[in-house]
Amino acid sequence: MLQLSLTLANDLYELLAISGEPVDFLKAARRLLALKEAPASLCREVMNSLVVEDGRFCWHSPQSLGLRDWQETDPDLKDVSFVVVDVETTGGRPGPAKITEIGAVRIEELRVVSTFHSLVNPQRPIPAKVIEITGITPDMVRDAPRIELLMPNLMEFMQNSVLVGHNAQFDLAFLNYELSRLDGRRLDEGAFDTLKLSRLLAPGLPNHQLSTVAGALGSRVDTFHRALADASATADIFLVLVGRLQERGITRLNQARSFADPLHKRDRHKLVLTRHLPRTPGAYLFRDENDEVLYVGKADRLRDRVRSYFISGPDHSRRVRQALRRLHRVDYVEATTPLEAIATEQDLILQHRPQCNTFGRNPERYVYLKAEGNRGLRLYTSPNPSARGATVVMGPFRGKGRVTGAIDLLTRCYPIRRCARNAGDPCLYGQTGRCLAPCVGQPDEIARHDALVYDLLRWLAGDLPQRFSQPDPPEAMALALTTKLARQSRFEEAAEIKKALDDTLALRRSCRAVMDGLRINTAALWPDYTDTIMPQAHISIVWEGSVVATLTVTESTAALEIGRFIRTLEPPTQPRFPVALPNTRLDSLLAIRRWLLENQTILRVPYSDSDPVSARESLDRWGENIMASALRLLTIHRPPSK
Ligand code: SF4
Repeated sequence: MLQLSLTLANDLYELLAISGEPVDFLKAARRLLALKEAPASLCREVMNSLVVEDGRFCWHSPQSLGLRDWQETDPDLKDVSFVVVDVETTGGRPGPAKITEIGAVRIEELRVVSTFHSLVNPQRPIPAKVIEITGITPDMVRDAPRIELLMPNLMEFMQNSVLVGHNAQFDLAFLNYELSRLDGRRLDEGAFDTLKLSRLLAPGLPNHQLSTVAGALGSRVDTFHRALADASATADIFLVLVGRLQERGITRLNQARSFADPLHKRDRHKLVLTRHLPRTPGAYLFRDENDEVLYVGKADRLRDRVRSYFISGPDHSRRVRQALRRLHRVDYVEATTPLEAIATEQDLILQHRPQCNTFGRNPERYVYLKAEGNRGLRLYTSPNPSARGATVVMGPFRGKGRVTGAIDLLTRCYPIRRCARNAGDPCLYGQTGRCLAPCVGQPDEIARHDALVYDLLRWLAGDLPQRFSQPDPPEAMALALTTKLARQSRFEEAAEIKKALDDTLALRRSCRAVMDGLRINTAALWPDYTDTIMPQAHISIVWEGSVVATLTVTESTAALEIGRFIRTLEPPTQPRFPVALPNTRLDSLLAIRRWLLENQTILRVPYSDSDPVSARESLDRWGENIMASALRLLTIHRPPSK
C-alpha cells in the first residue's frame, strides 16, 4: 500500500510538473488511477491523502491541485508591482535610432498609482515622417534631458516591478540598448506583452493595434503615439486582461507568463527530459535528435536551472527558444563549484560550437586593434592575434564594427594617419593640418604623431596617460565636432560621429572589463555539509582571471591541501598596456568576472600583495587566510548534526 501511494505521488508530481499549471483533481485522479469512471468522492479522498502526506503538493483551489513550489516562487498577480512603459523614437532600430520620449505607469495591487514622463533629447535629427506620426519636433526635445540623465530616474521608477508593454519587445530593445551602453546592464526580459495577451484573451478584434484594443476594452485614452498616452492605454488594457486571466483561474505571475507565451507552453512537455539532472553546479548540453549539441549553458544548480526553461516563464532569447524547440536530450557535466561550472561551460562551447549560443562559439571572428608603420603608426583591425609586424596589439574584441567605429572617431578627431601609404607627399589631410603627415618622413613629426597614437590607445585601454598630449580626450573632441556639424546642419555626419563615439566608449568599457578580469586573484569558498560527520569545503582558485584549481578539503586535510597548492603558484603578474589575450580566453574571463560581480555574498579571500613583504610571503599569508576561512566554514557555521 505504501509503495502504491509512493508511485501515485511520483506520477502526480510528474503530471503537475509537465503541465506546469494547476490540474483539475478529477482529471488527475482518474488518469493516475486509470479509472475513467472513478466517483468524484473517491478521487477527492485519494488526492487529498496525497496532499496531506506529501509536502510537494497543495490544493490550488477547491477543484485543482498544484505544486507547493509554485506558490512559494510564484507570487499572486495582485501582489506584483507592474510598470507599463512606452517609448517614442526617431526610428525603428536601437542604435541608429534614439529615444525621444518615455512614458511609464506604475501599477500596485492592480491599481494605477503613479506615472513617469519625459521628453528626451535624442541628439540627432527626427525624420519628418516620425514628426508626422508622433508630433514630437526637434524644438520640443532641444532642452529635454539626454537619456544618460534620465535613465537613473526611470530605473528608480521601475524598481522591483515586472515590465509591461504593447509590443513590449520594441520598447525593451531601446531601453536595453541604452542601459547596456551606459552601464552594461539589461532589463529582465520577463516582460508582459499586451499585444500577445490580447490576441489570446480578446480574440475576434479586427487587429490588435493599441488603439483598437484600447477602444474595444474600454480605455478612456483616445490619443495615441505619445509615450504617456500609450503607456496609460496599455495600463488600462493590461488591467482588463488580468481580470480575464483571473476569471480563468490564472492568478499567479508565472502561470500568467506561461499562458501569455504559447510557444513556451508548446515545449513544456519536455520538462520530462530534466528528470535525471542533479541539483549540483555544472554545465548542461541541449542536443537535438541527431545528437548535435544545440546549446550549452552553466548552472549553480543544474536541475533547477534547466527546469526553469520550462516552468518559470518565456524569458528566453530567440536562439534559446530555437534550441528548446529542437531539444531531444539534455546532457550534463557536473562541477564542484559554480566557478568551475563556468570554466566547464566555456570548454564545452569551444568544443561543440553550439549554433544557439551567442557568445564564445566563434572566437576566430573576434578582432584585434593593431597599430603599425615606420612612418607613423596606422590603426587597423585584424582577426589575427599575432604581433608580427605590429607595434601595438590590443584585444580581442567581440564586434569588428565597434573597433572600426573607434578608429573612425579617432582619425576624425585627431591629426593621425588615415592611410596605409608608406611614404610620399602628404595628401589633403596633411596639407590642411588634419594629419601630422608622418608620411613625409620627418623624424620629429613621426615621433609626435606616434606619441599621440600611443596616448589614444592608452586612453582606450582605460589607462589615461598623466600628460595627455592633446588638450582634450576623445569624448570632448567628439562632442565639439558633433556640435559644430549640427550647427552647419550636417546632421547625418553628426549622427555618424555620435555613433562612432558610442562604439568607442563601448570598446573602452570592454578594455576595462578585461583589465579588471585579469586583476582577479581570489579564492571562493563553499561549505558542503552533505557528510555531517566530516563536512567539506570546496575552494575555487581564480588566478589572473582564470579558474586554475578547485580544492575540496576537510578540517583535517585543509592545511595540507591548501599549503601544497599555494606552493605551486607563481605570484600574479599585473596586466599592463597593451593587453592582447588569445581569442579563446575572452569569454571565459568576462564570464568569471561577471559571476563574481553578481555573487558578492559568496565567501571569498582575495589575494593581496599590498604589504611590503616578498611575493612568496604574500602567497603564504594568503594560503593561511584561505585555510582560516575554510576552517571557520567547517566548524563555526557547521549545522547541528541530526
Ligand atoms: S597626410 Fe595623408 S598621406 Fe600622409 S599620412 Fe596623413 S593621411 Fe596619409
